[in-house]
Amino acid sequence: MKDIVDLSHPLESGMQIYPGDPRFHCAPAAELSRDGYNVQRLQMGSHTGTHVDAPYHFIADGKKIDDVPIDTFIGRAAVLDMSYKGAKGKIQWEDLAIFEDLMKSGNILLIRTDWSKHWGHSIYYDHPYLTRAAAAEILKRGVKVIGVDTLSPDATAINGGTWDFGVHEEVLGSGGIIAENLTNLAAIQEGEWMVSLVPLRLAGCDGSPVRAFAWKA
Ligand SMILES: [Zn+2]
Repeated sequence: MKDIVDLSHPLESGMQIYPGDPRFHCAPAAELSRDGYNVQRLQMGSHTGTHVDAPYHFIADGKKIDDVPIDTFIGRAAVLDMSYKGAKGKIQWEDLAIFEDLMKSGNILLIRTDWSKHWGHSIYYDHPYLTRAAAAEILKRGVKVIGVDTLSPDATAINGGTWDFGVHEEVLGSGGIIAENLTNLAAIQEGEWMVSLVPLRLAGCDGSPVRAFAWKA
C-alpha cells in the first residue's frame, strides 16, 4: 500500500515526556546470547510519545481507553493549518472559524502547528495552544477527536506562564478523545487523507501510545 504517512514520533530511551510522567525504558528481560531468545521489558506512562487520551484521563466516571469504540479512532483527516502561530501562541475560535466546514462528526480534527520540529528540545514545551472556548466551539459541531502536533492542546507552563487544562476538561468531559505529540501533519495538509489513531486495548487505562498514520482517502 502506497501513500502512507507516519504521524508518530519514535519511542526510545531518553525521549521527551510530559513533565512528571514516567520515563520510557525498553531493556532486555531475556537475551539471545544467554536465554536463546530476546524479550524486552517495556516501562512507560500511558501518555508516552504519540498517544491518545481517554475521557478517564480527567473525568472520574469517563470512558477508559478500552471502552471507546475502535472506529472512533479512524476517520477523515481535517488538517487546520495554524503553523503561523509562534511560541505560546494562542489559537482562538476566530482563527479556526474559517475551517468550520471541516468540523463534523466522523472527521478527525488535526491542529497543525509544525511545533513537532522542536520535539526533544526545551522549546517544545512552549508550543501554541488552543483556548477552552475554541475547543467548545469545535465540539459543538460534532467533532469527537482532536489531535495536535504538540505536547498538549492546553498551554504547558514548565518554562513560565500558567498551567491550565481547560481543553482537556472540555474535550474529555464531552466524551471526546485528544491525540498528542503527532508529527508530520504538513505532509497531509494537501489532498484527502484518512487517519488512524487506534490505541492498544489497555484494559482500564486512561490513554495509550499509538502508531498514528494517514493514508490517501
Ligand atoms: Zn495525554
